[in-house]
Amino acid sequence: MSDCLFCKIIAGEIPSTKVYEDEQVFAFRDIHPMAPTHVLVVPRTHLASLAEAGSATDAVLAACLRACAKIAAQEGLTNGFRVVSNCGPDACQSVQHLHFHVLGGKQMSDGMA
Ligand code: AMP
Repeated sequence: MSDCLFCKIIAGEIPSTKVYEDEQVFAFRDIHPMAPTHVLVVPRTHLASLAEAGSATDAVLAACLRACAKIAAQEGLTNGFRVVSNCGPDACQSVQHLHFHVLGGKQMSDGMA
């Protein structure tokens, strides 16, 4: 999608700090980190959010989750980490390209919402 921020980051048109990439996935550091490690995992193919998971291939969805685990290991998050995907206005999704936040490196609150 030509007007999508994360598509532009994947294409290298907007700079990012890359953490991981493979055939299906691109991952980079969040520009406003909420934890010592805060990485965004995005599929290369454009999907607006997890609500559109039915239109994605199993391979793409699985690659996103595998990438989260690989990044957590790469970042040394041996004591745990959190994966979040905000979906739609109630969840305050601000970028309309499916992404998974990988957060870790500190003790997080036990509140989910
Ligand atoms: P969400 O609010 O769940 O849609 O998450 C979008 C995330 O994208 C936020 O945590 C932002 O800080 C992050 N973000 C926005 N622009 C950039 C950028 N240019 N590079 C890295 N992260 C970004």
